[in-house]
Amino acid sequence: MQAYLDNAATTAVLPQAAQAAQRAMTECYGNPSSLHPLGRQARELLQTARGQVARAVGCTPDELVFTSCGTESANTALRAAARKNRHLGRHIVSTAVEHDAVLNTLKALGQEGFSVTLVEPERDGSVMLEKVCGALRPDTVLLSIMAVNNETGAVLPAAQAAAALKKKNPAALVHVDGVQALCKQDLPLDNIDMASFSAHKIGGMKGCGALYIRRGLSITPLLFGGGQENGVRSGTEGMPQIAAFGAACEVRMASRAADTAHMRALRGRLIEGARALGAHINSPENTAPHIVNLSMCRGRSEVYIRVLGERGICVSGGSACTRGRASHVLLAQGLPKSNIDAALRVSLCPESTEEMIDLFLEALGQAVRLF
Ligand code: PLP
Repeated sequence: MQAYLDNAATTAVLPQAAQAAQRAMTECYGNPSSLHPLGRQARELLQTARGQVARAVGCTPDELVFTSCGTESANTALRAAARKNRHLGRHIVSTAVEHDAVLNTLKALGQEGFSVTLVEPERDGSVMLEKVCGALRPDTVLLSIMAVNNETGAVLPAAQAAAALKKKNPAALVHVDGVQALCKQDLPLDNIDMASFSAHKIGGMKGCGALYIRRGLSITPLLFGGGQENGVRSGTEGMPQIAAFGAACEVRMASRAADTAHMRALRGRLIEGARALGAHINSPENTAPHIVNLSMCRGRSEVYIRVLGERGICVSGGSACTRGRASHVLLAQGLPKSNIDAALRVSLCPESTEEMIDLFLEALGQAVRLF
């Protein structure tokens, strides 16, 4: 592979994370609930990883629950919040640009009697705080807002919206989808009750997530069983993935400032080069450092992806989960069909290079001539 530029879909596992997983599989392979030495060793590993992820999230270790993925974290948070606050009201506010993990859970809650208001983005992909605040009602019991959009990189006003809801209705709960923000974008947790994270977006392994639950908030679990993870998420802990998640957080947090500056510089180079080729940028000004969405406004994303793929360049048309469907995010932005049909998401990681960007731009310039 010459240029893997689809890091918002998933990332390569960092060597330190792979080593941590290997150790959890072959040396410290006990069950963390067992009382014998191997069990105690595994428990120590679990505590270490919890501390490492908690430092990246900005919470205390006891406020973190490990799950199987970001999707499970969001499902747990939203279902629990709705159930907890059902007696106070039935109105939920979210945005039209959320990941399907949130949108489809809210759809399910809609079928259970909740009414959901989805705040629309602006044409540039940004989400206005005033619009979120305007959607809040006295019977709003839950706000779910993402910190960073996975298709455009837009930074949403999560902290300010959370503060506004708490002011209006102190008993209401706030969930933030922090999957694309972790180790990349600040996410202050004031006024936030729950936040979802995923390991495989930051150099950890697939099949591992975390849910921040503010201290003092007790929630109904999705899974019942042996009572692991403070009773919130039963099931023997996925130790290799959890150890890898911890190691990945440690590595990424140690060089976060430099990594962010590096990705921002690459992002600037990419936008400048793409604009010179005639591309329209579908992302707003205020974005996380690692995601750009662009369209040449001719042809179809799948064709670009195939042609670029033949040259060893991996990008996507949007969220990996949508698999070819028109992006609900770009549709909500109200972009012309030609932009949406030809949209490409380029997403970076700290190991991305200028050569990769230049390779992409050169191949893009050639691919557009096919149409
Ligand atoms: N939320 C956002 C913003 C995402 O980008 C993703 C993954 O694409 C998820 C949630 C779901 O995470 P996972 O793949 O760990 O279930």
